[in-house]
Amino acid sequence: MELSGKKIIVVGLGKSGISVATFLKKRGANVIVTDSSNDNKLSDAANNLQKIGVSVELGFHDPSSFKNSEMIVLSPGVPHTIEPVANAARSGTTIMGEIELASRFITEPIVAITGTNGKTTTTTLTGKMLEESGLNVFVGGNIGKPLIDYVDCGNKADIIVAEISSFQLDTIDFFRPKVSVLLNITEDHLDRYPDFNAYAKSKMRIFKNQKYGDHAVFNASDKHIFSMAEDIKCGKLPFFNHNVADDYNEFAKITDDRIVFNINNNFAATNQKATSQDHTFEGNFSLLFSEIHLPGKHNMENVAAATLASLAAGGNLAGIKSALDNFRSLPHRIEHVATINGVEYYNDSKATTVDSVIKALEVFNKPVVLIMGGRNKGSNFGLLTDAAKKYVKKLIVIGEAKDEIKSAIGNTVETILSSSLENAVVSASKLAEAGEVVLLSPACSSFDMFTSYAHRGEAFRNAVNLLNI
Ligand code: ADP
Repeated sequence: MELSGKKIIVVGLGKSGISVATFLKKRGANVIVTDSSNDNKLSDAANNLQKIGVSVELGFHDPSSFKNSEMIVLSPGVPHTIEPVANAARSGTTIMGEIELASRFITEPIVAITGTNGKTTTTTLTGKMLEESGLNVFVGGNIGKPLIDYVDCGNKADIIVAEISSFQLDTIDFFRPKVSVLLNITEDHLDRYPDFNAYAKSKMRIFKNQKYGDHAVFNASDKHIFSMAEDIKCGKLPFFNHNVADDYNEFAKITDDRIVFNINNNFAATNQKATSQDHTFEGNFSLLFSEIHLPGKHNMENVAAATLASLAAGGNLAGIKSALDNFRSLPHRIEHVATINGVEYYNDSKATTVDSVIKALEVFNKPVVLIMGGRNKGSNFGLLTDAAKKYVKKLIVIGEAKDEIKSAIGNTVETILSSSLENAVVSASKLAEAGEVVLLSPACSSFDMFTSYAHRGEAFRNAVNLLNI
């Protein structure tokens, strides 16, 4: 792909935007980076880019910059539907995400992982399984390092494992993963997509360019994915949490106490190094839940997906088991913070969708005092009614969405409005009794009160630790 002399605009001055701009500049492009925010925190990055000759426009998107550009590269969190990008697309400008751009310069096989929930957990775990299988792995994309960083990093990997957002999938053109993973599709980002169908179709685009010899790992118990699975053109590796459909002879099935794998195929080796590994399976093997140190059935889905993807990408069973031995919940995902006076406190700040809150509630078979709220991403909180009835003792709501949540499920469970996360934690500590759980699982983004989900999770941890004093 020729970049020299090309006028390119990069949208978003985050980690990925900085990497993309530097990458493009190195290859002789005329680069502008634009970000609608003018936050002070961006000024260091802006100065550094300006020093290497990149123009930076903060606080607004200048229509003339978009008009004059030949190509637009979007950061992972930026939808292609924002006005200046949509206008440019109409006039024929090439639009691509960072993942598409990076993949044009990468020759190593890519394992690409998407889904509404579980991406980071599954991507991290798959990376570990392949590493423990003896492969040199680069893990990146939406987590850790942007994929574009791999191109110039000088350390060639055997395989790349990338977490991919739906926004990145919206603009893929040639991106073709050797192994793709689609974990689930539930309501999310409905503030950014016209409807659920559009969001679901965007997720299915991960399979778009896959062909014979590639593999698609997908959740066949997710009715939306199942209904579209016949469009997948490569080897299918579904996982189920109920009866297996007749037309699949290779699959994983989650039972009451284990994940059963039925693998008949000799997976094509993805590269030279993988060929030397023992990655061939005939018949069945199982992973017992008791060997997996992660909470909840949803995590068994993540493990099933990571295992199938690792096998298809050249991993071996010994490596997979060794990774599982050492793997624990990532921070801010149903993370145990403390037990105080017999009450367990859990931080699930990363749960920004209704489905992830339901999954967290299902983990605890005891009454939960639930703290929810923040900025609504277009979720229908009414979908929580059944789980709230079953598991929630009291609900405490915070942030912009608190009234909306109260009106959606306030009739089902007693709901208390709180002015801050800190006050919510103090109230929860008074309402929960020994043997019960206090859970922060917001079903909302954090940006009304915090800089990120991690910032919110840390505030929760601090508030809980103050209870101890
Ligand atoms: P993502 O990167 O897609 O946001 P994470 O692994 O960071 O996924 O988890 C985000 C939230 O979703 C956490 O609350 C976690 O407990 C929950 N979660 C993880 N895996 C799943 C799954 N397979 N289905 C539903 N919820 C999940």
